[in-house]
Amino acid sequence: MTTTRPRAERAEQARSAATELASDGINGVVFGWVDNAGITRVKSVPLGQLVHAAEYGVGALPCFDLSLVNDSFATTPSGAGPVGDLRLVPDLDRLAPLAAQPRWAWAPADLYAQDGTPHPGCQRGFARRATEAVERHGFSVRAGIEIEWVVADAAGHPATVGPAYGMARFIEHSDYLAELLDALTRQGVAVLQLHPEYAAGQFEVSVAAEGPVEAADTTMLVRHTIRAVSARHGLRVSYAPVFTKGAIGNGAHLHLSLWRQGRNLGHGGPGSHGLHPEAEQFLAGILAELPALLALGAPAVASYLRLVPSYFAGAYRCWGLENREAALRLIAGSAAGQANAEFKCFDAAANPYLTIGGVLAAGLAGLAAGLPLPPETPSDPAALVGAERLPASLPEATDAYEKSALLRQALGPELYESVLAVRRAEAELFAAHGDEDVIEAVRWRY
Ligand code: GLU
Ligand code: MG
Repeated sequence: MTTTRPRAERAEQARSAATELASDGINGVVFGWVDNAGITRVKSVPLGQLVHAAEYGVGALPCFDLSLVNDSFATTPSGAGPVGDLRLVPDLDRLAPLAAQPRWAWAPADLYAQDGTPHPGCQRGFARRATEAVERHGFSVRAGIEIEWVVADAAGHPATVGPAYGMARFIEHSDYLAELLDALTRQGVAVLQLHPEYAAGQFEVSVAAEGPVEAADTTMLVRHTIRAVSARHGLRVSYAPVFTKGAIGNGAHLHLSLWRQGRNLGHGGPGSHGLHPEAEQFLAGILAELPALLALGAPAVASYLRLVPSYFAGAYRCWGLENREAALRLIAGSAAGQANAEFKCFDAAANPYLTIGGVLAAGLAGLAAGLPLPPETPSDPAALVGAERLPASLPEATDAYEKSALLRQALGPELYESVLAVRRAEAELFAAHGDEDVIEAVRWRY
């Protein structure tokens, strides 16, 4: 990853990247980062500034550590006010020309302090640290995030009302979908599937698994691309957890597999459905921490209007083979490499770097403790006595997060406190709102 390399190497890489981009007719690069509220913020530079930006970063306001979904700010006793500066350093290893935004390229960015040390509040840095911790223990993780969105017309109504998974929707938006596939492919994204989803106007794309940080980068790139292609068709896009009250929402299911020495530990083992003991412990660790992890992966007040039974959102804290109402759906896959665990409870309001970092830290703690996997839930948990619901509101998830010594340690005090302040402030922001108002307020924010 470029951002961890010395300045001189970053400059060298930027020099050759700039030459190549110029020959492709690109004249500017967008640097993106995702804040704790799940909003992507950007800065951009003209090509002539790329080398300097790669060496020293570009300025970013520290107060964005505490930004909320409505662009106001939470406060903490030690939190950043209007003073100070951070540096946004692009990771040019992930530089991608934007097929649907001609003459622009994009790179995810890391936050640094002015003296060149990593900013402890950097969410992407957190995901990287969590990945490195897994690797230090001799394991690796492959991850992929499903992307669901609602496409709407200029008036904000779902742009297609054809049936779920319906061919009618596909035909209606054939050119749009073809252009989207084309743009993603040209950007080097390995698309696995593209299809209409349940809710009116909803589509889904899934992408191939890769390293955890790369998977978070890819989900951001894909989401930006969907938005850009949509705009070219006069369409609007919403990744909000719920678009229409009472309808199925937009999830951001996280798929994971744990590997050691080139071997998928979710396949061919002696445990349930071929799990190896380490994979069982890893998943047990995540399940144990799931209520607290929801403060990362289901971060909005609106997230809990989606995370309800019978919405395929995984509202119960349990696991089961191909169980779509369990928070953890185990997928056997048709080949050894494909077996994986799908966490369905997370949504697209989340900062994917925070979700992934937290999940890896919890999994690793499960491994370290040799945590046993609870018994399988083989049927719809809603029909079972004693099935445990996940937190049903943001304050509930935030309470669990506040009690999590594991997440406090994994995130580090600064990032942990910022996330806590942002969650509390958003809960407060919408405390007096009815469901419709909450949905309305954030429908176009993510
Ligand atoms: N859209 C559903 C959600 O909110 C998921 C549907 C599915 O892919 O199973 O997560
Ligand atoms: Mg889906």
